[in-house]
Amino acid sequence: MSAHHKPKLGQNFLVDDRARHAIADALGSVVDRTVVEIGPGEGAITDILAGRCRRLVAVEFDAALAGDLARRYEMRVNVDVVHADILATDVAAIIAPERTADVVGNLPYYITSDILLYLFTAGQRGLLRQAVVMMQREVADRVAANPGTRDYGMLSATAAMSCSVEHLFTLPPDAFRPQPRVFSSVLRLWFHPRYEELGVDPAGFTRFLRASFAQKRKTLSNNLRSAGYPTQALVAAWPNTLALDVRAEALPIETTAALFRALHPTSPSD
Ligand code: SAM
Repeated sequence: MSAHHKPKLGQNFLVDDRARHAIADALGSVVDRTVVEIGPGEGAITDILAGRCRRLVAVEFDAALAGDLARRYEMRVNVDVVHADILATDVAAIIAPERTADVVGNLPYYITSDILLYLFTAGQRGLLRQAVVMMQREVADRVAANPGTRDYGMLSATAAMSCSVEHLFTLPPDAFRPQPRVFSSVLRLWFHPRYEELGVDPAGFTRFLRASFAQKRKTLSNNLRSAGYPTQALVAAWPNTLALDVRAEALPIETTAALFRALHPTSPSD
């Protein structure tokens, strides 16, 4: 355990030996892969992967930890430690000349949603094959949620547009030092974006999803009205099969995409 962990950076280090191996193993064979690790910390997962993958790019925001790791892996030509904020890092640039990478990470909890949206965007750009990521159990449940359930929201809908989601396992707080107050779950995401198939442009449709889920208590039509869609346009585009007071979380992603297409007839070429 680090004597100087920084709670603000979401530093709960994995100390369960079986768990760190299970996370590394979940990537499958990576002998010919470039792997990006988000938040390597003290190297619990890094140490295993360094000996397994063709190239490992470990992105750590904490200067002291990044410095320690850089020294530890100085002699390993396949490991690059990047001292940076992952959200400000261009995936394409750090994995070059490789065009696709796998991602692994015990994610810092304070920016988990942002990192997931960042990964979905990289997935849409065809830069990622898979990601094995650990996060607070409740967030993992939201990512994996199906339409019509309480947990379904912006994260689930963007996940559904970007990847398939597999729940691997859940760890108790005592797998970490210091212990977080929450349980953590590991998900595997396999990226296969559906934007083209469903005829929606990624940026426009992501804005539409944000507007649709803006206020959980509001109906979908009220959320869309608040986002500036005129009532007349909504009435004209609304499918007969859809109740007027439906909430965004009830809609399968294909139906949401159909509504978007009806409201944006020139998309995706505009
Ligand atoms: N991988 C290590 C482990 O499993 O023990 C550490 C995981 S800890 C939950 C999260 C790590 O992410 C910390 O090392 C923290 O410093 C780092 N971190 C926090 N914010 C970050 C950011 N914006 N970009 C990259 N790393 C970040």
